[in-house]
Amino acid sequence: MSADNAMDVQRAAEARRRGLRRIDLRRLGRAALLGPGTRDRLPGAIEHLIKVHRARHPQAGPEAVETLRRAYVLAESSHRGQTRKSGEPYITHPLAVTLILAELGAETTTLTASLLHDTVEDTDVTLDQVREEFGAEVTYLVDGVTKLEKVDHGAAAEPETFRKMLVATGSDVRVMSIKLADRLHNVRTLGVMRPDKQARIAKVTRDVLIPLAERLGVQALKTELEDRVFAILHPAEYARTQAMIAANAERPDLLATIAEDLRKVLREADIAAEVAIRPRHAVSVHRLLLKRGGAQLGGGDFGRLLVLVGEDADCYAVLGELHTCFTPVIAEFKDFIAAPKFNLYQSLHTAIADGRGRIAEVLVRTRQMHRVAEAGVIALGDPHATAEHLQAADGTAPPAAGGAGRTAARSAVAEAWGRVDPTQPGWLARLLEWQRDAPDPDTFWSALRDDLAQDREITVFTAEGGDASGTIRLPAGASCVDAAYAVHGEGGRRCIGVRVNGRLAPLGTRLRDGDSLQLLLDDAAASHPAAEWLEHATTPAARIAITRWLAEHPAPVDDDQPAAAPAARPARAASSVPSAQPVAVADLPGAAVRLARCCTPVPPDAVTGFVIRGGAVTVHRVECPSTARMTAAGRTSVPVGWRDVTPAGGYRATVLAEALSRPRLLADLTEVIATEGVGIVSAAVEPPQEHRVRHTYTVELPDPQALAGLMRAMRAVPGVYDVYRAKPAVTACRS
Ligand code: MN
Repeated sequence: MSADNAMDVQRAAEARRRGLRRIDLRRLGRAALLGPGTRDRLPGAIEHLIKVHRARHPQAGPEAVETLRRAYVLAESSHRGQTRKSGEPYITHPLAVTLILAELGAETTTLTASLLHDTVEDTDVTLDQVREEFGAEVTYLVDGVTKLEKVDHGAAAEPETFRKMLVATGSDVRVMSIKLADRLHNVRTLGVMRPDKQARIAKVTRDVLIPLAERLGVQALKTELEDRVFAILHPAEYARTQAMIAANAERPDLLATIAEDLRKVLREADIAAEVAIRPRHAVSVHRLLLKRGGAQLGGGDFGRLLVLVGEDADCYAVLGELHTCFTPVIAEFKDFIAAPKFNLYQSLHTAIADGRGRIAEVLVRTRQMHRVAEAGVIALGDPHATAEHLQAADGTAPPAAGGAGRTAARSAVAEAWGRVDPTQPGWLARLLEWQRDAPDPDTFWSALRDDLAQDREITVFTAEGGDASGTIRLPAGASCVDAAYAVHGEGGRRCIGVRVNGRLAPLGTRLRDGDSLQLLLDDAAASHPAAEWLEHATTPAARIAITRWLAEHPAPVDDDQPAAAPAARPARAASSVPSAQPVAVADLPGAAVRLARCCTPVPPDAVTGFVIRGGAVTVHRVECPSTARMTAAGRTSVPVGWRDVTPAGGYRATVLAEALSRPRLLADLTEVIATEGVGIVSAAVEPPQEHRVRHTYTVELPDPQALAGLMRAMRAVPGVYDVYRAKPAVTACRS
């Protein structure tokens, strides 16, 4: 049995045994290749492709089906007579590639281009012909893949190769999606190649394609590529890892036991959730082994528990149960919902110990987050489409009124896309900028490597200067600001300088594995974080602390800058403003208004306005300290009044709950909020002091009336003794 087959059989058995739900790309790849590959079997394959596509995109109509059929007919007839190295008809390749993409939920245009992706390079078909028959968009994608193909023939890991790839594909991530699926199928069928050629392709895949898959968030593709590359480049270690996985499968299944406990806990708490076991792939097991310095892995190490729920708020409810009914390993807790990863990945990560101290890692996410986690940018569909389309691409209905959690998730995705340019994820735009600015390929390459390292952890040594000497672990890419908050908690705001490896460095400096760090602190209690620290902070702990401090201490200049959010699409934002203004300004009927973030006004709060730069008006609550401060500073207020218009996305409000600490409190509060139909934008829990805790929730209200009901419902939660709106403290304001 070849290593490939052994891996397939072993994994399939594992997946069956554990009832795993993940996208199985291999199963589909094989469906296209069933039988000896005679052509008369193939029309069945295009039917299968269409079936898979329509399962993901029920709205794909007869027109889409017809386009795919025509693309298939053109590809099949033009590749006719060509064979793969294995002897199979060439058409099996574009078909298998397209099936991979269809299973990941790619839209019709990508699939059409994928069927045609090798025609222009390898057959008589011309770009003009493709344009005539399939239009400009498909042509653009086919052309991009063709160019990429040429670049890819360069040597592995050469900076110039990567740079050219980025240029070839930079303007559309769909080109890269096709390239990745193409590579996956080629790597699957590498067995027929000479060993040296196998190794060369495996190395390019490792150095270039896998980081791309990671960046684009296409987890399902990345993990299979990783395992296959590992098997080719390190056959002995691969075999050893597989043997460990097989041996573990023979032992009693610890994760299944914990999963059953967890299901029971969630049933009793009346939370609708699915609990599944996700086995780690071989490379993941191997990495864990390296991380543990070769120490024996336990039963809980070969997989993770995956909890799938319906709404964002349910994630926090599940977390509340996990952390009260089991013993949480707090160091392992990460909130990628409040702070999504660069590749749009969202989930809560935690680890729990059961009654016997056996530890399991747990991932909690909604089904929509799960789709994005598995298929990344491919799940998001057409990058040019609107947020509503993104949701529809998932096959889910648009959220009903009150589905505010879902709205929040959707707008987070849309926001992530729109951050720089709707056709490019932020990191891609950044890379393109770098490659333009980099003085030479080496500089570019090292910058790129740093950027790709982001998902790892680093160890930093802290010393002297009043710091507790020791080591801290941070996500790779963390800055000195992150380190300051990691070491000093809230006290990180007193950081005024750092030495990295003995040299003074800016606070925004990104730390590297093994750096030694000395934090210089200001003794004055009044020292504070600067707004730009947020640009340097990547860890949730630092971001949350800085955001909270800034919200509680609004500075006149910072706070009154016009809203930055619509920067990506200024034209659209400007044109949509007049219709959605929730506030009328008496003297300036056309002025754009903005609800101040420091006091989050909601009707019928008494409010007042101040004209800020660019003629916009910022609206504060009358009792907000900013109002008093600006009045004292001689700024003239303008009379404003609420209109009966709810802004898109509803009203934001920050609500604090004070309570006696008890198990299930977090779960009960988040559940009440969800029941009221209110979405949670962010949540923070301060550590208990003398059994009292304070929870801070920033919520999105579907309408202003919801606020009173929400606060009433929160007050009714047992143990809660006070619920109130965020009120910046007057005494804490900057002079
Ligand atoms: Mn190809």
